[in-house]
Amino acid sequence: MKIAFIGLGDIGGLMASHLARDPFDLVVWNRTASKAEEFARTHKASVARTPADAVRDASVVITCLPSSVEVEAVLHGENGMLGSLRKGAVLVDCTSGDPPTSRSIAAELGGRGVDFIDAPVSGGTTAAKSGTLTVMWGGELAVFERVRPVIEAFGKKIVHAGEVGAGDAIKAVNNALLAVHILSAAEGLAVLVKEGVDPKVALDVINASSGRSNSSENLIPQRVITRAFPRTFRLALLEKDIGIAAVMADDLQVRTPLISLTAERFHEARELLGEEADHVEAVKMVERENGVEIK
Ligand code: NDP
Repeated sequence: MKIAFIGLGDIGGLMASHLARDPFDLVVWNRTASKAEEFARTHKASVARTPADAVRDASVVITCLPSSVEVEAVLHGENGMLGSLRKGAVLVDCTSGDPPTSRSIAAELGGRGVDFIDAPVSGGTTAAKSGTLTVMWGGELAVFERVRPVIEAFGKKIVHAGEVGAGDAIKAVNNALLAVHILSAAEGLAVLVKEGVDPKVALDVINASSGRSNSSENLIPQRVITRAFPRTFRLALLEKDIGIAAVMADDLQVRTPLISLTAERFHEARELLGEEADHVEAVKMVERENGVEIK
């Protein structure tokens, strides 16, 4: 099975590594070519010079790019995939994209005999490394069945979200919740530190109580208390995801003041911490504003 993988970023590179083995025949393309060359030095894969070259013979094409904007660019830009996609191929977009763009790409490709599913992932780089990502896909079952072995190579919990765009929709809302939980836990702990409570003791109680979340149970103990703040998922990408959720809410006329406020706060955090900061570093904004360290 010939597979083209487009986008070897923090998570894309780890996902692609599960496809660099039989029965797959993998070709990779990355905007920064040196990353693709490094990947091919350490994995069974060949490197394409352009997106068009990458997809020419592929029956399955996977994109894993920052947002739907870059997926459109790789499709329509110079040396883009559009004219080279084979009839009968399937484009599996693992980007955390936005539903309207995914629907429009699906319609455009459908007119050329190419199928599309949106298939964003969750579980972070740890699950990507072990090939145990959660995959939420939107599209037709018959199309999914043709790419099932590919998705199973990096996914463990694989859920049909609904029609094209439904995977993107769930992903955006999940990540809006993640963003709310990071900031609410940081604010609560900032109060407790000022009150003179040891945040480790506070987390011990909260994590046995009803205020707990993945942020309080895992992210804050492992990354904030330790001051490690590893870079696994860029803050800028989480800001993008909350933005998608906020736009969805707006379009659907659902009142979501908490999501809107969190989107604003993550915008401030990115301005403060920059494009390369990890998402959990948003806690640093709360710390600086309050003159405390959660450690
Ligand atoms: P990164 O920012 O680490 O990587 C982005 C990738 O997209 C790189 O390969 C980059 O190339 C490429 N790229 C950026 N801009 C363009 C462009 N204009 N044209 C072509 N290629 C471009 O992102 P991640 O790998 O972390 O994330 C990818 C997707 O997966 C995102 O939608 C993200 O929200 C989602 N995701 C990420 C998770 C994580 O833990 N990291 C978890 C779950 C979902 P280059 O190397 O040249 O910069």
